[in-house]
Amino acid sequence: MQDGTLPTGECQQFYFPLHHPTMPGWFKGMEEIIHERGLWPAEGLLAQCLGFHCPLGKTDCCCWQLLYMQPDFLNQKSLLLELVESCGHLCDFYPKYHCKLNFIEQYWGAAKLHFRVIGCVKTIGEMETKVIECLDDIPLLQIRW
Ligand SMILES: [Zn+2]
Repeated sequence: MQDGTLPTGECQQFYFPLHHPTMPGWFKGMEEIIHERGLWPAEGLLAQCLGFHCPLGKTDCCCWQLLYMQPDFLNQKSLLLELVESCGHLCDFYPKYHCKLNFIEQYWGAAKLHFRVIGCVKTIGEMETKVIECLDDIPLLQIRW
């Protein structure tokens, strides 16, 4: 995890220094990070709301939500995105569960194409046989690609 930014604009290290008496080099944790930002409430905070279900509109109900709303956390790109962009490329993610990422769609598509190529069938029994043949003929490499 890289350093954060304090509300003053200064750098905030998320790991204790190597000369720390009890936790050298350890991750500070949410409570310490929030303390250093001067945002820790006197009554304290839970680490997270039950099941990450924070009350609608609340931004300081728990450590998780409070940190999530901090500008440096909000603006942090993923490591993958940073890597791709550092190589001079654009990174455009498919939506979660997009069909292009789902192997079964590749499998069905290849099997349907194969079924079309082999021609018409005249009976239900013949169709069943050819469908099974088409499904069995798709190589694993094509499904996983
Ligand atoms: Zn919460």
